[in-house]
Amino acid sequence: MEPTSSSSNVNNVRVSGRKAKRKTFDDFIPMNEWSLKPRKRRSIDSMGSAKQSNSDVIFTICNDNVEKSKIKAEFDVKDNGSKHLTEVATPKENNDKNDLKISLPEATKAVDAIDTEIGEKIDTNFPINTVESAHDNKVEMTVNDKQTSDPILTKVSKPKRTPKARQATKREKMQPKKNVSHYSRRTKVNADSDKKTEDEISEKEKLIFMNKHSCKKSGCKKIGLTCCIQATNACMEASGKSSRWYHVSLEEHYCNGCFEEYYRIKHSGCDEFHEWKKAWMNNSKADANFKSLQTYISERQLPYWVQCTQCGHWRSLTNDVELTSDVIRSYTCIMGNLANSLDESNSEDEDIRRVPHIKYSCSQPNEQRVENVLNPDLPWMNMLGCTPYLKHSPAAPFLTGYYPDGVGMSAVDTTNRRSLSEFSSDENDVIKPPGLFNKINKHQVNGKSHLENKKYVSSKSRGNVLTSPGGRKHSSKDPQIMVDGLNPYFQPFYKPHERGKALCMRPDVMELDEAEEFPEYYKEQTVYLAIRNLIVSLWTLDPKRILTISNCCDHLILRGLTRVRLCSLDAVRILQFATRKGLINTGALQLPRSVGNLKEGTLPKVYSNQKVVVIGAGPAGIAAARQLHNFGCEVVCLEARLRLGGRVDDDWSLDGVCVGRGAQIINGCVNNPLALVSQQLDLKMHRLLPRCDLYDAHKVATKSRALVKPVSVHCDKRMDFHFNALLDIIVEWRQAQQDNAADCSLGEKIQEAHQEWIKQSGLNFTELEERLLNFHIGNLEFACGASLDKVSAFHWDQNEVFAQFSGDHTFVQYGFGTQLSAIAYGLDIRFEQPVTDIIYNNSMSKVEIKTKSETYEADRVLITVPLAVLRSGSIQFEPPLPPAKVASMNRLGCGCIEKIGILFPKRFWDSKMDGANYFGYVPLSADEKGFFTVFYDVPYPQGEDSKVLMSVISGDCVDAAKKMKDKEILDIALSVLRNVFSEKEVPEPSSYFVTRWNEDPYSQMAYSFVKKGGSGEDYDEIAKSVAGRLFFAGEGTNRHFPQTVTGAYLSGLREASKIAITNKDVQSSL
Ligand SMILES: Cc1cc2nc3c(=O)[nH]c(=O)nc-3n(C[C@H](O)[C@H](O)[C@H](O)COP(=O)(O)OP(=O)(O)OC[C@H]3O[C@@H](n4cnc5c(N)ncnc54)[C@H](O)[C@@H]3O)c2cc1C
Ligand SMILES: [Zn+2]
Ligand SMILES: [Zn+2]
Ligand SMILES: [Zn+2]
Repeated sequence: MEPTSSSSNVNNVRVSGRKAKRKTFDDFIPMNEWSLKPRKRRSIDSMGSAKQSNSDVIFTICNDNVEKSKIKAEFDVKDNGSKHLTEVATPKENNDKNDLKISLPEATKAVDAIDTEIGEKIDTNFPINTVESAHDNKVEMTVNDKQTSDPILTKVSKPKRTPKARQATKREKMQPKKNVSHYSRRTKVNADSDKKTEDEISEKEKLIFMNKHSCKKSGCKKIGLTCCIQATNACMEASGKSSRWYHVSLEEHYCNGCFEEYYRIKHSGCDEFHEWKKAWMNNSKADANFKSLQTYISERQLPYWVQCTQCGHWRSLTNDVELTSDVIRSYTCIMGNLANSLDESNSEDEDIRRVPHIKYSCSQPNEQRVENVLNPDLPWMNMLGCTPYLKHSPAAPFLTGYYPDGVGMSAVDTTNRRSLSEFSSDENDVIKPPGLFNKINKHQVNGKSHLENKKYVSSKSRGNVLTSPGGRKHSSKDPQIMVDGLNPYFQPFYKPHERGKALCMRPDVMELDEAEEFPEYYKEQTVYLAIRNLIVSLWTLDPKRILTISNCCDHLILRGLTRVRLCSLDAVRILQFATRKGLINTGALQLPRSVGNLKEGTLPKVYSNQKVVVIGAGPAGIAAARQLHNFGCEVVCLEARLRLGGRVDDDWSLDGVCVGRGAQIINGCVNNPLALVSQQLDLKMHRLLPRCDLYDAHKVATKSRALVKPVSVHCDKRMDFHFNALLDIIVEWRQAQQDNAADCSLGEKIQEAHQEWIKQSGLNFTELEERLLNFHIGNLEFACGASLDKVSAFHWDQNEVFAQFSGDHTFVQYGFGTQLSAIAYGLDIRFEQPVTDIIYNNSMSKVEIKTKSETYEADRVLITVPLAVLRSGSIQFEPPLPPAKVASMNRLGCGCIEKIGILFPKRFWDSKMDGANYFGYVPLSADEKGFFTVFYDVPYPQGEDSKVLMSVISGDCVDAAKKMKDKEILDIALSVLRNVFSEKEVPEPSSYFVTRWNEDPYSQMAYSFVKKGGSGEDYDEIAKSVAGRLFFAGEGTNRHFPQTVTGAYLSGLREASKIAITNKDVQSSL
């Protein structure tokens, strides 16, 4: 070591070294630093012998300027003339006044720096390949053989290290690499040899240096690289230096040595890579453009990152350790890097990749690169070298028909079959709302629904689907959902080539609203899809428990720093989006505010910052209020009546049987949100079979006391077919119309088509067949809630162009009210508060809502009153609602049906049911087609047979019934029954009720329909918010699913989501 005199020459390394007592490594004049290398080279060139070169370089290792140790590099010249860096050692005494202080906490880095310095000089002849270093005394290094250039040929120095030293070595490798920069090494050189000035440095040399130390990927250009996989001895020894760098992510690069390790045929990692590649290609959609090595590296070689469950810091594991959900759930810093434990007795250096177990401490901060990854402004996802895939995603059993990599999952590390018990909640976690339904026994009952009779519903033109970017597996086999024990109604993802199921999503394509929310993912969707599919699957597997970000991260298994990014940023956003949209964390689930908003990141806090008044506590109002409450908003629900439910009104007065005076049937249970609520409450769904025998009243009337048999199957089918054919003719007719053609009524069109049929076919219909036609028309009037003479022939079935709910129809024998009260549990609902005025002048910052007795103020108001109420003017708007909205309200119809429930002293109808749930009655004339054409056998909530029948009045008969007393209406029902059961005694009822929805001021209707002249767009118009402060929900605002509890419920979720982001604070934060 030859101390040099101090000099003012900026090129003097010692001078700059002594000046350089700085906080961070990067503070060292990096652009000058490379310029020092030629001088260094001359210095070594001039060595001549080992003696001369001895003590060429000394580093002093400082931690925050506290001197720790010094490292001296020594050189040797072998007999054959080759020059070697033989040893790096701590000088015996730290008495060198001229040494250089560098503020780098790890000795390893200093040794790396020496290596780079020397390597820069020697590599033309004897490139140093790797350095594995120990700060405590010695360094091992190997140099390339000049003939073969194979690494690890010469072990120049191999001091024996204690296990402690090994541990220290590895720990240092795990240390934050924040301050590491290979520009910033400081060396002492002989001042005499230091002749070159900065100007003399050639561009070429500059280029060589940059090549070795920076990433070439455009947009990255990261400098001061370290290899993120360190797969070989050579790599570890040469860290920071490579002839080429490969980009994995903005904070992860691997060196050429590691690349070669897997890529070159002779190398040891090659077989492993090729085996992996073969397996991947077999099971994936990968094509010629597949970045196989890059994918292999990120699938198998990067280390996993895991977050300490105590301090939240991120720690990396050694790359031979597999991450599992259990590790994620239990990881703490003291578990360290989870390296496979080292066999001390056998700790020779053959396998330097085996490292000792390193412990971290919670007080240790995140590495700088982790901090960088957590910066939301960093375009991390756009800068990934190749797509990362989730391993062992719980979504896999739902997606068996797809190539795993097409839906964001690893093509190799993916498990298709899973058991529900892995995911579902403990009994203790299950929501147990109070009330009646807790007493309900959970037995299933077989039943059938009349609405299966909606034979007129055409399923031809379903689904508005996006085009696929690929990723489908073309398999002739029907892919199965492979989760043992899963509710068959839960089908969140389409199978390949499947279409037309409501609330079903493509696992391989983003939905439109997702693309709007996450435009940055639109071009390359895979990672988004992986997370979304994971979130939706986890929710589907266990909808009784709030799905938090930590639940998701337990299953978000992938290598590399991308896991840090996803768990901390992207997955959180996707989870929040899905929660806001009511895709997950919905139904009867109550999100505790502390969980909902903050710690678990289910929702951003900013949603909560507003007060919302919801008008109406029917399905739409309750759904919205629950969501908004879960979001953390202050919600008050104003309900005119003294009860919940609106047009859901369960009557329990008939011997404890639940008879819905309003809604009681779910049409299509697959993905139905109310089927989900049933699951959450452990209320089983009761499947209804389509069978409905029809009894001909004419025959009955003439054959008194004779056994009445049902209409023959042949005749029934024939008329069924005929009626559907008439509807198809109307579809063809309207398709042929000009855009501006005038609408006409469906009733009129059906009659016209029927007459035309007769004319053209020359076929005559029998009297019975004509009466059967009336039955079908009556049934359709029931479905529309109106006489077909009022219904639009153009648009009566407008919602059929959208995917509709499929699967079983079920009779909710415990009542929709049971579900609604569970959803509403804990909400602030003020009963007997009919709203009279809503004042939302622009000059006011709040909306004022007046009831007869109170005035409320809110930031937003959600109006869910029935269309008929809205139209009636019983709520005054100041200023009035926009004319377009009012016009649409008038273009839709407010349909009505009424019900009767009858309790008999005994059951007398079993002989006519034969296992079915209902029977039909063929009306004598067209005028009677709305009076009780179908009778339902209503079971007890537990599923047993009861003594209660229920039936419906529809079409024009609703108006006729208005003028009748309840008893007169009952008599009509009894006379129908006595006709059908003419062979036996029909007893006088014990009790009964008749509904009067039409006259109820807070309903005035049953459900909406498209009136002649109206269209589906009117639903959308009514749903539009006004002035950013008035919002509208309810069945009459749901174009896709009008008329139903399901539609009302979903409109509530829709508006809650809208309101959440209409919040001013949200807008400004978006
Ligand atoms: C007889 C009948 C049978 C039906 N059968 C079925 C079926 O089997 N399956 C099915 O899915 N659907 C069925 N429906 C339709 C279903 O009930 C409705 O689509 C659904 O209830 C609509 O929910 P909503 O929240 O939009 O309105 P509603 O349920 O009507 O709720 C609106 C709420 O607003 C309140 N309100 C009204 N005015 C005011 C005011 N001024 N101030 C404060 N509050 C006010 C009302 O009291 C009510 O609680 C049936 C309906 C009827 C009437
Ligand atoms: Zn490497
Ligand atoms: Zn890069
Ligand atoms: Zn910790």
